[in-house]
Amino acid sequence: MDKKIMVTSPAMPPIEEYFEEIKSIWENRWLTHTGPKHVQLQQSLEQYLGVKNVELFANGHLALEILIQAIGLTGEIITTPFTFASTTQAILRNNITPVFCDIEDEFYTMDANKIEALITEKTSAIIPVHVYGNVCNVEKIQKIADKYGLKVIYDAAHVFGTKINGKGIGSFGDASMFSFHATKVFNTIEGGCCTFSDETLVNKLKSIRQFGQSGELDVPFVGTNAKMTEFSAAMGICNLRYIKENILSRKRCVIRYRERLTGVKGIKLCREQTGIESNYAYFPVVFDGYKYNRDEVCEELAKYNVFSRKYFYPLTSSFECITSSKGETPVAKRISEKVLTLPLYADLSIEDVDRICNIILK
Ligand SMILES: *Cc1c(COP(=O)(O)O)cnc(C)c1O
Repeated sequence: MDKKIMVTSPAMPPIEEYFEEIKSIWENRWLTHTGPKHVQLQQSLEQYLGVKNVELFANGHLALEILIQAIGLTGEIITTPFTFASTTQAILRNNITPVFCDIEDEFYTMDANKIEALITEKTSAIIPVHVYGNVCNVEKIQKIADKYGLKVIYDAAHVFGTKINGKGIGSFGDASMFSFHATKVFNTIEGGCCTFSDETLVNKLKSIRQFGQSGELDVPFVGTNAKMTEFSAAMGICNLRYIKENILSRKRCVIRYRERLTGVKGIKLCREQTGIESNYAYFPVVFDGYKYNRDEVCEELAKYNVFSRKYFYPLTSSFECITSSKGETPVAKRISEKVLTLPLYADLSIEDVDRICNIILK
């Protein structure tokens, strides 16, 4: 049987380098809660992402959930169902109703032309998702937000390191959430951060992250526990050293996928976005009128030990746990039934990409 190829595989530094990085933890006995590794990673990320403020969290989901609380959002939030469970659940766990806006057909991000029709007097914010490494129409979204006095928080879990005309993606909108989960372009094993412009959020975010405490005796907020450990931060420090070459390896794979799959009847690839420095996070392929449908391609690949992913399927709006939501999203529904993300990670070889394409094209 051929070697297993998973849809993703975590980037890891040489083991000796990680050992070296965590040695000092045995000396200072500081395991968690804003230790020296945490502070170092936070500062490195502010620089790498080109943003004013970064706060680290135990994972990306909690970063988003806490951001929504800290900014004080209420009522309804306009978002898309073409995302991972986390985005919608972060809204629901803040007792806010998600209002689903459709996506556009080219890059699968929120269709900015459909936002205004969904705004009501209860709307407090827009939470669009940059998907697969594609960026949203940030300019148009900001214009609408300004016109109606709404906040904008981006789910930026897929766009770590991406830039628009040289500007870090985390500097758009009021805030963004990045995930550092094992499967993402950059990982801290589990972890995440938010980036934001309003300095007054710093203390609030820190406080909610640590049981709502502020100082030793005051508890001004109902918080949670969402601290990043020193071991995660150390992993992040090591992985950040390799981020450039990891993204370059991904890019090489994407170029090969494009060479092999472009122009095949019934196979639709995302166009490269202009002015964007991409991180090549995912390689989505839409099977629409191809000799096999999406599910058939997925099954065929699995027979050869290649594991792709129906991502994002199903839409979050169809989860049984969602009892109150609004908005119809026919484009998102159609794409979610036809899209497959193919294996893509830094250690994937060009030969592996060829093997995958041969199965799809045979
Ligand atoms: C991974 C992911 C998240 C959640 O991040 P975690 O770090 O796993 O909590 C949220 N949104 C999207 C789009 C993601 O892909």
